Order: sequence, then structure tokens, then C-alpha cells
Amino acid sequence: MRNNPSVSNLTARTDGTDDAQQRFNGSTCLNQVITDTLELSPFSRVDLMNIHRYLIHSYRICTLPWRRWMLSRLKRQGAVPVGILFYHRVGNDHLNPWTITNHRFVEQIDWLEKNFDLVSLAEAQKRIQSGANRRPTVSITFDDGYADNCIEALPMLIRRGIPVTYFVTTQNIIQQQPFPHDIDRQQPLETNSVEMLRSLSAAGIEIAAHTKTHPDLGAIQDHGRLYDEVIGGICQLEQAINKKVRYFAFPFGQHENLNEAVFQLCYDHGIKAVCSAYGGWNEIGGDSFHLHRFHGDPKIAYIKNWLTLDPRKRHVDRFSYTLSDSLDTVPVLPSISNQIGINTFSANPTHE
Ligand SMILES: [Zn+2]
Repeated sequence: MRNNPSVSNLTARTDGTDDAQQRFNGSTCLNQVITDTLELSPFSRVDLMNIHRYLIHSYRICTLPWRRWMLSRLKRQGAVPVGILFYHRVGNDHLNPWTITNHRFVEQIDWLEKNFDLVSLAEAQKRIQSGANRRPTVSITFDDGYADNCIEALPMLIRRGIPVTYFVTTQNIIQQQPFPHDIDRQQPLETNSVEMLRSLSAAGIEIAAHTKTHPDLGAIQDHGRLYDEVIGGICQLEQAINKKVRYFAFPFGQHENLNEAVFQLCYDHGIKAVCSAYGGWNEIGGDSFHLHRFHGDPKIAYIKNWLTLDPRKRHVDRFSYTLSDSLDTVPVLPSISNQIGINTFSANPTHE
């Protein structure tokens, strides 16, 4: 046993829903209570959100001297932590808590480029494992697989040479079915297609796994179902893009949505890292197999606050898990190509 081991022109179009969805539901309820109590108009709800954003901005400004002192100290110590952001959908219509407009997304990327090294997940892991990092570092990821991301956001990131890891829910993409959280909102949105993923992969974007059907893995105990959702999804994706899948992200990604058995499944399968979504930094010299991520969809005030060493985010409780080096017998899946019903590539995907 061991403890936590460590584009070209794209013409195509669009987990948090994940924690965004859960936080949205929570904040919606809270706002409803406040507005019902105070008999505020819907316009006032917007005011409340603006007040909250203003308070966050003020909190950051007030604590800026401490943050600058802390960054300077961490640089000297070679202990500048690594931040990882996750987005879902970038588009100007059908706005929801997991969609950011193209203008706001560019605004965030401009700020990130000025203040951080924007690196791949592999480089992020390398810096965590190195034991010494003196450069503010952020890695950008997306969850789910929305077609709209291919209109402006991803081509822009590709043009700028910014590495991206793109986690997708395979069954929805293969079958071109909207995600459950969008159907629940009666807002079915277009998913990426397999062809889009191939184009993104060819353009240098790292395509990664986000289960088959986007379930809450924390609520599943049946090992066969876990294996089918996690490893089955990875195998589907590898056949679809004809490349080795190296990373996995939990749907929803909060503590209660994680599952220790999934860490072991991914580790045994050769996955290099699994990602959660409950916020927090990745400390240098710390666990590089379980990567913490911050939610990127909200307003830039929140991103600036978290990524400038928000004291509240420095040391979040990590999900506890252990890994065994002994491989358990795993269920044998039926032929993946029969399951996905699409043309498959060579039987020898590219492995690194
Ligand atoms: Zn998701």
C-alpha cells in the first residue's frame, strides 16, 4: 500500500455543471429565501449578486498586501502552488451558471496570461512533483464537452498556444445526446461530436475522460458499474480519438462525489491523474495524482480572488484515499467497438 502517490480553424460548435450546478442550486435557494423574506424584486436579486461580487473584490483588495507578501515568500521557498481551472461552456446564448460569454472568457484568459505560466496538466504535475516551483502556474481544463466551445474559445486558446485538457462524457458525445443537467433545466444544448474531438486532438488539445454518462460516482457502490462508467468511458474515448487517454475528472467533483475505488481503477489503468472540482491549490511536493481544480465559469472577480492566494483556499481538506500497487482482477468488458457503434480506428492507439 502507499499513500497518495504522488488548432487550426475549427468550424465546429458546444462539470460542474458539476459543482457549479450544485452551487447554483444552493445559491438559488439562498437568494430565494432572501428575496422572499425581504420581498425584493427580481431586479434586486441581480443587485445581491453584484453586492456579493463587490464584497469579494473588496476582500481581495484589502488582503492584497498579505497576498503579495505570501507570493514573494513562496517564490523564495520554491513553493508557489499550482492552480488548475475548469470551465464548461463558452457561448453568448443560453446563459446558465456553467456558461461564460466569449467576451468574459477572453477577459479571463488575458488576465491569466499576464499573471501566470499557462501550462498543460503534464507540466503542472511535473512542477508539483519537482519539489520546487517559483513561478505562478495555472492549467486550464474544460468538462463535459459542449459544441459551442469550438466556435471561439478553443480556437482562441489554440491560436495563443495555451495548453488545454478537455474532459468529455463519451456516451453523450457518441450518441449526440444533451447532458442530463441540461435536460433537467429544459435547456438541451449541443454536445461535441466525435469528429470535433478528433479535430481538437489533432490541434494539440488533450482529450480526457469524464465517464460514460456523467453519474455521481460517489453514490455508486457496485464495482462493475464503476468499472463500466470509468474504464469503459476511457476505452470508448481512446477508440474514438485513437489516442491514449491520460487523465480523468470526476463528474460534479465535490468531496461527496468522489469514490476511493475510482482512484484505484484509474491508477491500475495507467491514468496519470484524476481531477476533482472542490477548489484548492496543488501544493509543491504534494499529491500529483489527485489534482484539485478551481471553478472557472464564474465572474472574473472570483477567479482573481482565488488565484491570488485567497487565504481561505490555501489549505482545503483533501479527499482521503489510498492506493494499492497490487492489481485486482477487473471485469472484462464486452467489445467496446460493439458498444459505441461507430467506426473505429486502428486497434493500436498511440501510447506514450
Ligand atoms: Zn461534468
